[in-house]
Amino acid sequence: MTGRHDVQGASETMHDNVEAATAVSGWTPIAEEAERATRMLHPKHDLPKPPQRRVLTVANQKGGVGKTTSAVNLAAALAMHGLKVLVIDLDPQGNASTALGVDHRSGVPSIYEVLLGEVSLSDAAAVSDQSPNLYCVPATIDLAGAEIELVGMEARESRLKAALPTGAFDELNPDYVFIDCPPSLGLLTVNAMVAAEEVLIPIQCEYYALEGLSQLLRNIELVQNHLNPNLLVSTILLTMYDGRTKLADQVTAEVRKHFGDTVLRTVIPRSVKVSEAPGFGQTVLAYDPGSRGSMSYLDAAREMAERGFGGE
Ligand code: ATP
Ligand code: MG
Repeated sequence: MTGRHDVQGASETMHDNVEAATAVSGWTPIAEEAERATRMLHPKHDLPKPPQRRVLTVANQKGGVGKTTSAVNLAAALAMHGLKVLVIDLDPQGNASTALGVDHRSGVPSIYEVLLGEVSLSDAAAVSDQSPNLYCVPATIDLAGAEIELVGMEARESRLKAALPTGAFDELNPDYVFIDCPPSLGLLTVNAMVAAEEVLIPIQCEYYALEGLSQLLRNIELVQNHLNPNLLVSTILLTMYDGRTKLADQVTAEVRKHFGDTVLRTVIPRSVKVSEAPGFGQTVLAYDPGSRGSMSYLDAAREMAERGFGGE
């Protein structure tokens, strides 16, 4: 009886609040939806262009934490705001290529041929059908052998960097480059860390989230000490947040306590739309532009762009 009363009470309070807000500001849930849709249909080109190209490696050796989802959706969000973005798919699974609708069947020019020095970056890059500003260098299954082939190569940790000399980006001239890593700390991930200046670590808001993170940070430190002194963990993004669980809040608080301002304020919610999108060869921004997942990636991209990097 009390429970029922409480629910009814809560619902009345909510109704009153909505009415009050509507009376004061003209706000309604429908108005909010409409405002969102308008924003998506007519995005303002109001995100700052970085003074220098930003190259970010999206890494976490833990599988399924949202590396690919974050790489492609942040890329799509920045591209929607008029910035030029390149996603380098460095995972033989080819998930980033799939989400960007880019052909990655064996035989198409891919990051594998770029790593071997057989094809230039711009020749391997394909434009995504989702935005003329969004490019992807796909990964084919051929990349699966690269981890082993690289072992015997000279300067095996710096092959990607060597394949991207100054000028390699000139033709495409992207403002942002995201390198999507596989779920391991093997040579492909190390190559990505040597070729980038920033590391973006997606952390899933769940129980084992922090497990393995110290190992990731130790590896980043090794790369900093021996291979790429310019590398910095610039961004941590909390993903798959489920507001119904206390655990998600505990993980969020813990991560913020440890990493402070490196953690974006925007948190990506767990959302069915986000998980459905790749099945249609799309980012969530293309699949359901007005969805919560889409809006949160737009917010995260805005935060990244506005806070800049290094001495900007
Ligand atoms: P891997 O380590 O295999 O490369 P990953 O770290 O790249 O994985 P994703 O592929 O981005 O992780 O995500 C793992 C799964 O979770 C995918 O099926 C994806 O669609 C789903 N997913 C990612 N983010 C969300 C979200 N915010 N809400 C719901 N599902 C999500
Ligand atoms: Mg992935």
